[in-house]
Amino acid sequence: MSHTPVAPWILGLTGGIGSGKTAAAERFATFGIHVVDADQAARWVVEPGQPALAQLAAHFGAGVLTPEGHLDRAALRARIFADAGERRWLEALLHPLIGRAIERSLASATSPYAIYASPLLVETGQRRGAQRVLVIDVPEALQLARAQQRDGASEAQVRAILAAQASRAQRLAVADDVIVNDRDLAWLHHEVDRLHAFYLSLAGGHS
Ligand code: ATP
Repeated sequence: MSHTPVAPWILGLTGGIGSGKTAAAERFATFGIHVVDADQAARWVVEPGQPALAQLAAHFGAGVLTPEGHLDRAALRARIFADAGERRWLEALLHPLIGRAIERSLASATSPYAIYASPLLVETGQRRGAQRVLVIDVPEALQLARAQQRDGASEAQVRAILAAQASRAQRLAVADDVIVNDRDLAWLHHEVDRLHAFYLSLAGGHS
């Protein structure tokens, strides 16, 4: 009897700034679950040696590179800040590359399910084939406190990001599963462990 390998199903993992997505993803990873992070993919496509970096330098000039040949994010931001056309050019270059990097990585997963972690899953509507969505939910006061502490940011800076993101209600409306991350990390791990056991019982992400 031969076994055909079953492609892993995809769990979308999302939550607002400082909600605990990364902490949750790290816990899933301890069980060998393959995690693809949208933010990491966005950084990877502009690493030295990636074709997009050369295209950026050709378009914007060497001023968007550091002396070491890395992307100078502040310089790039300054170039696109007040220019919607340049912003669109940049997005047209990077979005398909980021999308392909995410899809390639998800397709390479050998764990029973794979995680696509994205802070903007709800905002972009891009679920990358996720059959289920897990939302890490947190009261706003805690979100502000944790993000400020982690990033050394001001309350106003974190509030500005919060305002640009989907609301808790919008996120919860697409959630299949929710972890309320309002206790300590041991509790978050306990909740992840419980869901992981449940996810292993699912075929294709559905009960
Ligand atoms: P972002 O989208 O902003 O990158 P995130 O959702 O990935 O955020 P994390 O980086 O996982 O959030 O968590 C934000 C901060 O809060 C981190 O410093 C993390 O260690 C801390 N944190 C997360 N969950 C808890 C918890 N239950 N108790 C205490 N600290 C926590």
